[in-house]
Amino acid sequence: MFDTTFLITTGILVGWICIVVTLEHLYPYTKGVKFFRKGFWLDMVWYTFIQSYLLGILINSYIIAPIKIKLNYHGSETLSHWPIWALVLLFLFTHDFYIYWFHRLQHNTKWLWRTHEAHHSNKEVDWLAGSRSHALEIIINQTIEFAPIVLLLDVKSAAIVVPIKALLDAVWGIWIHANIDVHSGKLQYIINGPEMHQWHHSDHQEVFYSNYSTKFAFWDWIFGTGFLPGLSPRQYKVMKPEKFGLPYDFPQDYFMQHWFAFHRFDVKKIESIPVVRTYIDWKKPILRIFVKEDGDSVTTPSDPQTTK
Ligand SMILES: [Zn+2]
Ligand SMILES: [Zn+2]
Repeated sequence: MFDTTFLITTGILVGWICIVVTLEHLYPYTKGVKFFRKGFWLDMVWYTFIQSYLLGILINSYIIAPIKIKLNYHGSETLSHWPIWALVLLFLFTHDFYIYWFHRLQHNTKWLWRTHEAHHSNKEVDWLAGSRSHALEIIINQTIEFAPIVLLLDVKSAAIVVPIKALLDAVWGIWIHANIDVHSGKLQYIINGPEMHQWHHSDHQEVFYSNYSTKFAFWDWIFGTGFLPGLSPRQYKVMKPEKFGLPYDFPQDYFMQHWFAFHRFDVKKIESIPVVRTYIDWKKPILRIFVKEDGDSVTTPSDPQTTK
């Protein structure tokens, strides 16, 4: 039923999650964050399982594959001769450079920010928080990430590089969002980790527009957006963020979060519509088994401009 690659990558991922969750428990960056935090089930069920599964099919079968057919492109022999480790490094490096600039643009452009704000909406940041991303953001980023691999390599090489790259994305994404108190010193000039990315998710206006890097932290230091107390020349009143998430109200429901990117609405008003009320209410008893408040929807949103 499942192929070997799927089983191996899933096994590594589950092992990595166990390690990270244990470290979060032993050395929390922010104390008091529960495993079943608010938004846990939204991130796990909707974003991690349903969205990533459906978008995987959409991106691979309905975007990248047709592009390849249209271009009648059967792979570049030149790149396919490269060893797998070199190909992985190449795509890792080039995509990381792209993602730094696109991420920076998202924080600095009103409309692109709307595709990214969901990612910043968790008030508690842990290993799973990074999975929350608007579908549009995933479609753009993963198409740009995987299309070159599929287009530039032959089928055999792409079949190896794509799952390795996807696994690295997942492992690294879990790591940088992890609620772990890491002290890696000067390594934060090179490799990105929770130290810098927890600050990126903070709700501290003074450090907005900082730490856009995903895997390699040096982009931030090279392009002047790096921030970390003790490492950057710019210092701050506290050594760790005291609050996280968006500085304005944001829906808690998956569909509302998606619609909110296109149309700002008063969530309380929408919730008062009987059919929406019923939809919200049936989830509450189930979610409350695990965590209080989850599934509660939001308050009146102010109209955010380009908030980071
Ligand atoms: Zn961001
Ligand atoms: Zn993040």
